[in-house]
Amino acid sequence: MQAGSRVLTENCSFDPYWWRAAPHKQEPAIAPPRSTDVAIIGSGITGLVAALHLARGGRQVTVFEAHEPGYGASTRNAGYVGRTLKHGFGELIESHGLPFATQIYGELMDAFLAVKETVESENIACHYKQQGRLLLATSPAMYEAMAHEFSLREKHLREPFAMVSRGEQASEIGTERYSGGVKIEDHVGLHPGLYHQGLLDAARAAGVTIAAHTPVLRIAREGAGFIVHVPQAQVTARDVVVATNGYSGDAFPWLKRRVMPFDAYQTVSEPMPAERLRQLLPGDRTYIDWNFNVDWMRRAPDDPTRIVFGGLTGGRNQDLRQMAERLHVRLLRIFPELTGLRFDNIWTGKCGGTLDLYPHIGRHDGIHYAVGYCFAGVPMGTLFGQKLARRILGGKGGDSAFDRPLPSSPFYWGNPWFVPHAINWLSRHDR
Ligand SMILES: Cc1cc2nc3c(=O)[nH]c(=O)nc-3n(C[C@H](O)[C@H](O)[C@H](O)COP(=O)(O)OP(=O)(O)OC[C@H]3O[C@@H](n4cnc5c(N)ncnc54)[C@H](O)[C@@H]3O)c2cc1C
Repeated sequence: MQAGSRVLTENCSFDPYWWRAAPHKQEPAIAPPRSTDVAIIGSGITGLVAALHLARGGRQVTVFEAHEPGYGASTRNAGYVGRTLKHGFGELIESHGLPFATQIYGELMDAFLAVKETVESENIACHYKQQGRLLLATSPAMYEAMAHEFSLREKHLREPFAMVSRGEQASEIGTERYSGGVKIEDHVGLHPGLYHQGLLDAARAAGVTIAAHTPVLRIAREGAGFIVHVPQAQVTARDVVVATNGYSGDAFPWLKRRVMPFDAYQTVSEPMPAERLRQLLPGDRTYIDWNFNVDWMRRAPDDPTRIVFGGLTGGRNQDLRQMAERLHVRLLRIFPELTGLRFDNIWTGKCGGTLDLYPHIGRHDGIHYAVGYCFAGVPMGTLFGQKLARRILGGKGGDSAFDRPLPSSPFYWGNPWFVPHAINWLSRHDR
């Protein structure tokens, strides 16, 4: 028996489940224009939101994408929209003081609201739902630490939360695995494929040129502008935006040295009786534990008979069948009764991490960039896309608390071989 076949359906797909509702069309490469006001590299959330606002601001915009539009993490993620950062609010107060912590978390709120505003203003039907999030503790000590962290957020940021004790959690999730958790009622879940599709349609309607299957090979300065080198063509551009996050490569070597790609894995199950799934996830939240290396699960937003389950972040195993086996073991740790349940989809995608674990927006050598979202790119990519556009258009609102020096290491030149070890080390408290 092939590894993985026990846990995979006969028709299991290794593409994201989200591509069923928002199929990736094999668009032919087009001849790019000889010149453009703004060249954007990457057609994910960041690139498309920037493109949309720039086009509405009167700029001629070309988005270059190495594959088909939305090839990257923007159509591969879990669709959680919250206020997530790898640095806790309490930790930031201790290390940098309350004003800095408040400014950083204030911008996370701006990002959270930017998604709502975008979905509403662009009329994107993407199952956007304020279903609340349940953050789960895997030990009593973690539960206490969460209570401390979220009371600080409530006190200083006025963000309400509710503790859910181990005794109460059955009304939210049908498992004994967790030691309770924190419920945040306003957090959102959406369908990532449809959100991206809506952004792509809006960008095209605003006049943005999407040059699919057109990898940018090199960006060179010329006078006050740039020459963007793509296969068989050179395009002059007044401004360049790099929005390649976990897929950053040789086009912008300075950035490649500073953004570390790491893989995350996600599955969607075959259908099961809706009532059975309702018993497992009665709260119908987006669920995620509070470890550094997380497991997450939710009901599929467009199908109440399927569970979405992800984890194993930082794994380097390209054999998705083996990863399916490992994810199945993790799923059974939470719901042992799902022994016979198989996956209909398993896929992977690349996140982008930075050495200081912050997202970053900035400019180097005249080139604008926004990267390093560490699992918060749905809201942060939306906000930074808007900010990148404002920076180029010269309007207000382009400033950011995340515009800080983007650190590099003398030991990192773009080969992320050590990332699984680093994630293991950073996850040591999880155990
Ligand atoms: C499994 C998984 C689950 C996740 N879950 C969540 C979640 O629930 N919530 C959340 O907020 N975030 C989540 N994330 C993170 C989030 O998806 C990303 O942070 C976000 O999508 C990044 O968007 P982006 O537009 O910056 O980059 P991407 O969407 O990754 O797009 C980058 C694009 O650049 C293109 N590109 C790269 N180099 C070139 C080049 N030289 N020329 C042309 N094109 C190029 C790539 O092909 C790619 O399409 C998750 C990520 C993964 C992988």
